[in-house]
Amino acid sequence: MTEPIEAVAGLRERLDQVREKIEGGARRCGREPKEITLVAVSKTQPVSVVREALGVGVTDVGENRVQEAESKIAALGNQPARWHLIGHLQGNKARRAVKLFSVIHTLDSVSLADRLERACVEEDRAELPVLIQVDLSGEVTKAGVPATELSELVKSVNQCSRLCIQGLMTLPPFFEDAERVRPFFRRLRELRDELQTAGHFGDGRGELSMGMSYDFEVAIEEGATIVRVGTAIFGERNP
Ligand SMILES: *Cc1c(COP(=O)(O)O)cnc(C)c1O
Repeated sequence: MTEPIEAVAGLRERLDQVREKIEGGARRCGREPKEITLVAVSKTQPVSVVREALGVGVTDVGENRVQEAESKIAALGNQPARWHLIGHLQGNKARRAVKLFSVIHTLDSVSLADRLERACVEEDRAELPVLIQVDLSGEVTKAGVPATELSELVKSVNQCSRLCIQGLMTLPPFFEDAERVRPFFRRLRELRDELQTAGHFGDGRGELSMGMSYDFEVAIEEGATIVRVGTAIFGERNP
């Protein structure tokens, strides 16, 4: 394997640029930059690059596949980080996910909630923070619960004593022009506000996990509290 020199070179600079944009975006709309958590999405990046990222102050790492995260977490051993699952989770991997991840962003069905709840019992994990993934695109192929079924799902998940709903996540369709994504972010915020008013997030503020490399500034303007950024930090992914 060749050394991933490109990904490592400039990592700190790119990370600083992303952080500056987060700060700028927050200040532009009168928000505190520290309200926003940057999740560095390291899918397809080798362990050496993730180690480098942790070395320059990354605290939260996002992976979209259980297997890939498992090998990275094992290789990084005792390096502390919060691992976020941001990709679709199959029920049969619930137990491994419960062992590995600090937060799961992609809860989208009652059956998956049940699997996760059982996995928490088996793994003796008292509390699993989750976000509900909402499909706002109306594309059948997209993961996520349709907005019309969201409050039903939230009610069911709130009955799972070990799952703790932190907020909502969405993955909008891709547009060249990030402005065209804005209505999707806004819609997720409205849904969050409705659930919050109804008391579904308990004492929590109701996180909004939205925004990626090309549109996280727009997402912040629309209220994102967690942005998931890969390419802008690590460079282009190899397919
Ligand atoms: C890959 C991925 C990201 C990061 O995408 P970039 O465009 O590389 O920033 C964010 N969220 C999810 C769900 C992803 O799968």
